[in-house]
Amino acid sequence: MLKRIERLPAHVANQIAAGEVVQRPASAVKELLENSLDAGATVIQLIVKEAGKSLVQVVDNGGGMDEANARLCFERHATSKIRKTEDLFDLRTMGFRGEALAAIGAVSQVELKTRMPGEETGICMSCDGGEVACQGPVAVEPGTSIAVRNLFFNIPARRQFLKSNTVEMKHITEEFFRLALVQPAISLKFFHNNEMLYDLPQSPLRQRIDALYGRTKSDRLIPVDEETEVVRITGFVVRPEHARKQRGHQYLFVNGRFFRSPYFNHAVKTAFEGLISEEHHPGYYLYLEVDPKSVDVNIHPTKTEVKFEDETTLYAILRSAVRHGLGKYHLGPTLDFQRDSSLDVSYERSRETPESPGIRVDYNFNPFSGNTRIKESGSSRTPVAAGDNQKTALSDLYERSFSSVEIPEEEDAGSGLFPDAERWSVEEAESFQWAGRYLVLQSGDSVYFVDQNRAHERVLYECFLAEMTVEQGNSQRLIFPLEVEVDREELDALSRFTPYLEHMGFAFGEQTTGAVVLKGLPAVVPEGLAVSLLKDLLEQEVAYPEQASFSEAEFLARKMSRKLAVPPGVKLEREASRALLRDLLLCKESQFSPYGKLVYIRVTSEEMDKKFK
Ligand code: ADP
Ligand code: MG
Repeated sequence: MLKRIERLPAHVANQIAAGEVVQRPASAVKELLENSLDAGATVIQLIVKEAGKSLVQVVDNGGGMDEANARLCFERHATSKIRKTEDLFDLRTMGFRGEALAAIGAVSQVELKTRMPGEETGICMSCDGGEVACQGPVAVEPGTSIAVRNLFFNIPARRQFLKSNTVEMKHITEEFFRLALVQPAISLKFFHNNEMLYDLPQSPLRQRIDALYGRTKSDRLIPVDEETEVVRITGFVVRPEHARKQRGHQYLFVNGRFFRSPYFNHAVKTAFEGLISEEHHPGYYLYLEVDPKSVDVNIHPTKTEVKFEDETTLYAILRSAVRHGLGKYHLGPTLDFQRDSSLDVSYERSRETPESPGIRVDYNFNPFSGNTRIKESGSSRTPVAAGDNQKTALSDLYERSFSSVEIPEEEDAGSGLFPDAERWSVEEAESFQWAGRYLVLQSGDSVYFVDQNRAHERVLYECFLAEMTVEQGNSQRLIFPLEVEVDREELDALSRFTPYLEHMGFAFGEQTTGAVVLKGLPAVVPEGLAVSLLKDLLEQEVAYPEQASFSEAEFLARKMSRKLAVPPGVKLEREASRALLRDLLLCKESQFSPYGKLVYIRVTSEEMDKKFK
């Protein structure tokens, strides 16, 4: 049967379009903020509830809309910003498609209140799942307020796929940052669940950046400022010693618009060559101004990619501009750009190996000796009630095996490290270290090759997890408290981790934006590693909040085990390797590291026999 072609009803078309424009609460945030910007606002408030799932509201003091415009703005392809095709190539506004409000209105319950500065009263409109209705006149301040409620209320499948509040908030905050970083002249406030997260007055860019990260010391940023025929580049790069292991803090803007570009990121990274280690990422806030005709921002409604006319030239200029900026601060050789040899840093200086900001591994640190032993017998931990639960088995077993008692038969070592018959008796078996990283031991008719690093990760992981959730770890007071520099987001992340960390034995002193004081450490965390350990955890949490969203304790245990495990290449003394093997044997899961890697390989005599056939 031939089907007739029919036009889609507008609300259906809008819902389909919404799929492209509105992916998550943060998309609504972006569109609303951009509209306020286009409306010439100088004061903007962003108000969200439940990570935007129940409310995203933007209130501005911009030009507002008259009644006719307010009625039209939810229509698809209704825009006041372009009239003819040519306008597309000379864009000065953020929006121009006239799609956003129609799309948002189709999948949520929107309330719009707007008043033009010259008018006596404002007008209130609603758009409920695409149904537009005029609510009549209202008394409002000049400007516009748009409240988006219950995003995807009419598309359960989409609503269901929203991520945890932590993750959605991360996306929203990112959108807020992108606006804040490019519009320091606009005063911005950001509220979540009635709490004010950011209060940013109009300020010069440098202060704005510092304010966003809650920094007080302002020597973190190095200015970049170059002008050529094709582009003007301004902004800041973060001093190499503040480079982070995680990406983030990497912002590129073109003509006031945030964009993403692995290619240009690479340009900046190479400019930092020699100043930061391979694992670190430079931080930057760079603003390109080019002729609007030479850049196409029209590629995708929400994607943040743009297309430049001459990318290779821009790449070279960008790299040089950053080097030049760094060079002025004697951080690297000035190269190829406006090069004036008298300005060059001295040869000696440029040849000095820059100090790597990376962590230093204390190779004398023996995780198995002295008071750093993971599970000390006779420790002050609360006594474990017999048969309490499975989780206590680790320490319980440890105490027993420590006095070289064979593991009782009924005590199944979890998901079967070694088949019953194959359990090592560590006390008897001799092991040796091989190739700098494997512990080799023979037990029964098998030979085991154990990866020392992964084995230790597994042991620490289970121990940390137990301490964070069921037991209390030992804390050691620091004579000289340590200070961990944190920005706002990190402080936020820390507050989520604090209960677990404290349970483990971390003791925190004062927590302010800017820094956190560490007064005590778990016995197993060496003082020299504590700051970088915490810093890494927080950076990762901020960069990839979804990692921890499943279980914070699990995330912490995993990350810390990686950081603190004895690295490959470290010589383990006999006692240390015995202790490690013994602990591994007691793990609930000993075959795989917390990262899912094989911990050991077993070769049986049968397999050997085959090889010799
Ligand atoms: P676009 O921004 O692409 O024009 P939108 O759907 O985002 O499309 O907005 C439609 C129209 O609604 C805009 O062109 C503008 O005229 C009007 N508008 C939206 N938000 C505001 C605001 N905060 N202040 C004034 N006018 C607005
Ligand atoms: Mg818009």
